[in-house]
Amino acid sequence: MNTDNTNKFNGRFGKYGGQYIAETLMPAMSEIETAFNTARNNREFQKDLTFYLKEFVGRPSPLFYAERLTEQLQGAKIYLKREDLNHTGAHKINNTMGQALLAQRMKKSRLIAETGAGQHGVATATAAAIFGFSCDVYMGEEDMKRQEENVKRMYMLGAKVIPVHSGTKTLKDAMNEAMREWIATSDDTFYVIGSAAGPHPYPIIVREFQKIIGEETKQQILEKENRLPDTVIACVGGGSNAIGIFTPFIPTDSVKLIGVEAAGFGLNTSQHAASISGGKVGILHGSKTYLLQTEDGQICNAHSISAGLDYPGVGPEHSWLHDKHRVQYVSVTDEEAVNAFLELTRIQGIIPALESSHAVAHTIKAAPSLPNNHIIVVNVSGRGDKDMQSVNQYLSEK
Ligand SMILES: *Cc1c(COP(=O)(O)O)cnc(C)c1O
Repeated sequence: MNTDNTNKFNGRFGKYGGQYIAETLMPAMSEIETAFNTARNNREFQKDLTFYLKEFVGRPSPLFYAERLTEQLQGAKIYLKREDLNHTGAHKINNTMGQALLAQRMKKSRLIAETGAGQHGVATATAAAIFGFSCDVYMGEEDMKRQEENVKRMYMLGAKVIPVHSGTKTLKDAMNEAMREWIATSDDTFYVIGSAAGPHPYPIIVREFQKIIGEETKQQILEKENRLPDTVIACVGGGSNAIGIFTPFIPTDSVKLIGVEAAGFGLNTSQHAASISGGKVGILHGSKTYLLQTEDGQICNAHSISAGLDYPGVGPEHSWLHDKHRVQYVSVTDEEAVNAFLELTRIQGIIPALESSHAVAHTIKAAPSLPNNHIIVVNVSGRGDKDMQSVNQYLSEK
């Protein structure tokens, strides 16, 4: 499977993806596509990116054998890809450093971004600080209240947080606002998108900056086990950490790939964030993909205990991989995720992000019925220090 031939089909993954954007944004989109295609093959750019990923982000992240979890479950052998150990505590920085370096090559002076939980805003503000960009982050007013700590972090890093008052005052409104702002300012401004979503070429750009997770994993498992894993598991919000770890394994059919969506209170309720398992095809954020919508096509608000999975769509490549049956998409409830969060913390001394806990939860379900020589790699996309309050609140309400 050659996912790169999507370039020749105007950025489509099968019928998904594309560029459902205002005509006025087309030139900006072409400019980015050209700059990215030149940069990805440019030695100097790759050298810079590798330097910052090593010296600033702290790559490569370890692939850790979870011995006690494996013993407890008495089934498959479980490895954890430790993206939680990156600078700023998650995989998102891989992408923002890449896009910021691209913006630098394009001689832009300002970065803008949308953020929901604030994690992508913080990762963008961090990249802006180290490279000296001015930075404006669009954030729903409601989210600003819920994620006050991240708002403070962004200010501390020198970014400006712009409250969005329209609609439900959450992520989807912030995305619309950032896109609108970009139309007026694209001459000097680069729009940093936070997941493998949005109009072409963003899903490809984000995938290419995140696939280092999978490339390292492949090399590390070959060193440790002398073979490829049997199963790779990752959580799916917009889908960037998942596509990042899956990409190098997609051509090898013997490696089973599982994406875990957030089932919130359950798929049978309206309170979930499972765009593939519980949504329908439509258009969001400039791209055709599975998303959560009402009967008459209005975008729904997603719910998950983990703020980072609380996105009503999914990157278009995942929709395509789902239809092709190359990746299996499952879902995990808030309750299962919290239990997995507690279990990994207690048994391995690793506090996973609530997002990543969804991938851990599915692993805990699947591992016991698999043989001892079955190797699972789970992507621990981020660390859970940020989630103490959510977990404690959940436990006290129970
Ligand atoms: C944002 C976030 C996610 C979800 O985003 P993807 O694009 O689906 O990876 C997952 N894990 C963590 C730790 C996050 O911060």
